Formats: sequence, C-alpha cells, structure tokens
Amino acid sequence: MATKSKLSVAKVQQPTREEAEAAVTTLIRWIGENPNREGLKETPRRVVKAFEEYFQGYQVKAEDVLSRTFKEDMGGYSDPVLIRHIEVESRCEHHMAPFIGFAHVAYIPDGRILGISKLARVVDMYARRMQVQERLTSQIANTLYQFVKPKGVAVMIEAEHFCMKIRGVRKDHSKTITTRFLGVYKRDAGLRQDFLQQVKGG
Ligand SMILES: [Zn+2]
Repeated sequence: MATKSKLSVAKVQQPTREEAEAAVTTLIRWIGENPNREGLKETPRRVVKAFEEYFQGYQVKAEDVLSRTFKEDMGGYSDPVLIRHIEVESRCEHHMAPFIGFAHVAYIPDGRILGISKLARVVDMYARRMQVQERLTSQIANTLYQFVKPKGVAVMIEAEHFCMKIRGVRKDHSKTITTRFLGVYKRDAGLRQDFLQQVKGG
C-alpha cells in the first residue's frame, strides 16, 4: 500500500536529535546570528524540545484516545451536546507559524457519550501537527463520527493565523472560520442553525 510504505520511509529517515539541533544552528547562522554567543548556546536544544511539544500529535492515535466511549442510560436524552471554546493551538504547514483559536464541537448521541477530556485530546491530537485549518476541522469531525457513532457531529474552528498577522499581508484582526457537519447535521438546516446560534450566544 502506497501510504504505508511512505510512512515507514519517513520513519527510517527520521534524523537524530543532534541532527535536528544542528539544523536549528544552521537557521541561526542563516539569519546572521552567532550561534556561539552566550544567549544562543542552548537555543537549538530548547527549540528541538519545543518542537516535540508543538508536534506531539504525531505520537497519538485516535484508537488510543477513543478506545472506550461510554454506553450510557441517558434517560432519553437525545439532543445535541455542545462543548464550546476548546483551545486550539496548531501550526500552519506552510510557514510553521502558530494558528490559535477555539473549536466548538457538538454531537447528537446515539446511546454513547464521550468524556469531555477525551474530546479535548482529540482536538490536541490533530492540532499538534503540521496543519491547515480545513483539514484539522475535518479530522476532528470524522474521528468523532467514526468512533463515537453519534447521529451527527458539528465542528467549528475559529482561529487567528500568525503567518497573516506578523508576515505577508499583515492582517492583524482577521479570523478564519471553518465548519464541518456530518450525519443529521448535514441533512438538517435547522440543526445547523441551532448549532451556530448556540456557538454565538451567551
Ligand atoms: Zn501559514
């Protein structure tokens, strides 16, 4: 399978930590700085460590996070569950610049519910990778739909992209909004309306 061999090639070619730190040193020299001066001596080590954090999502699989969803007696509850303002910190894959904002996630349970901390972990798992906001939105929605098997899922992300704020067009206050609707949300305009209303409201 093409994807499988691609992944294993990437694994084999993963550089060592020393090589990664050397690459940061090269960038420091490239901008015209002296990597040996006191303040910069430890910078490559710190940058590589920070990168581990920014991109730790590659170490996590959806199965690990969502292997257990809870089958619950919900007393007939069959309305949407909405979790608003889940922090999103990601990196654009074009500039590796941060994009930061919030995810709003709703689902309509079909017998199973999901712990809120798990939901946040799903957001992090995909956010802490090289991303475009559109794909991030889809991956969160698709994964919840696949693992929790709800009647429907709605995901909205609103984020500010630092590659637009501090470089390029320098549009400081623009926000990018993306949405993905699955299941009954896809078919029912009223449900989508309610979702958008609840996200905006109070
Ligand atoms: Zn960018």
